Amino acid sequence: MRITALAGGVGGARFLRGLVHHLRAAHPDDRPEIIVIGNTGDDITLFGLRVCPDLDTILYTLGGGVHEGQGWGRVDESHHVAAELAELGATPQWFSLGDKDFATHIFRSQLLARGMPLSAVTAQLADRWGLAEQGVTLLPMTDTPVETHVVVTEGGDQVAIHFQEWWVRHQAALEADRFVVAGLDSAAAAPGVLEAIRSADVVLLPPSNPVVSIGIILGVPGVRDALRGSRAPVVGVSPLVGGRPVRGHADVCLRTIGVDTTSEAVAGLYQDFLDGWLVDPDDPMAQPGRTSRLAVVARPLLMSSVAAAADIAGAALALAQQLAAATGEAEALP
Ligand code: GDP
Ligand code: CA
Repeated sequence: MRITALAGGVGGARFLRGLVHHLRAAHPDDRPEIIVIGNTGDDITLFGLRVCPDLDTILYTLGGGVHEGQGWGRVDESHHVAAELAELGATPQWFSLGDKDFATHIFRSQLLARGMPLSAVTAQLADRWGLAEQGVTLLPMTDTPVETHVVVTEGGDQVAIHFQEWWVRHQAALEADRFVVAGLDSAAAAPGVLEAIRSADVVLLPPSNPVVSIGIILGVPGVRDALRGSRAPVVGVSPLVGGRPVRGHADVCLRTIGVDTTSEAVAGLYQDFLDGWLVDPDDPMAQPGRTSRLAVVARPLLMSSVAAAADIAGAALALAQQLAAATGEAEALP
């Protein structure tokens, strides 16, 4: 079974790790074929180094090197380089980079400087973390450098700041007017991205941020059309539990684009291609008598452990298979 997933950072990575565990338990003799299309809108150049936070979170999480408590960065990390940079007065100092993490960014920047595309660099990093053995191929959404910026008002003027500055430094507390993704219009999907959607048996949307993770990937030219045209069922997982994002500021991002923080409104962002949707049992969409054009399944959605994430991934696949079977039957009718 060929599975293609769109993913941001922590929510995406934890779901994908659950997916790998689920498939290993359910089909121990088959190596899965999972293609992950990762968000690169969060990418930023710091100290001359190219940092790809969402791709790295996926690599570290699947590779067993992530700091579990944070959900990002490396476990057993030290911060000598950052401390020395601070002594030197180098800026910015609001973005935490550990020493092992620095090595990733140095290596990536070295290969990029030699002219290697980000997708090829990412493949080398994926080798380091053993993704192929898990049946996972990680593709950046595009090889073109793109950057999500946030338009905020400062001293009466509208200025665009990098997404990371808004998210990490200001904790999304600066009133945002809109998001602008520099370079996205003219970016091309990375090699294999559109094919991965077109040839998938199942497309999964992990509970990643619908605006600044999934929403950015959907803006890559051709991605949305490929999803619309996909014959494979597309099943998503709501990032909301108890009416709120589990972590991060997805609610602020949604408000900024004028969308309610409800699973129904988030599903609405995907309405032209989404077939199935997992929501938490206390979600309004789970209430008896609620009808929806979508196939909605209610089940606990907190990824509190790898096992919990695996169960959620299994439920997403089960729903996809149910939808595929229903379509197959419908097509078989005279
Ligand atoms: P980021 O790039 O690190 O912000 O990560 P993502 O975009 O991949 O995921 C962020 C989203 O994941 C947030 O909106 C969270 O609500 C969601 N999320 C995180 N943990 C969980 C969880 O345990 N369950 C669900 N359903 N969503 C989660
Ligand atoms: Ca991110």
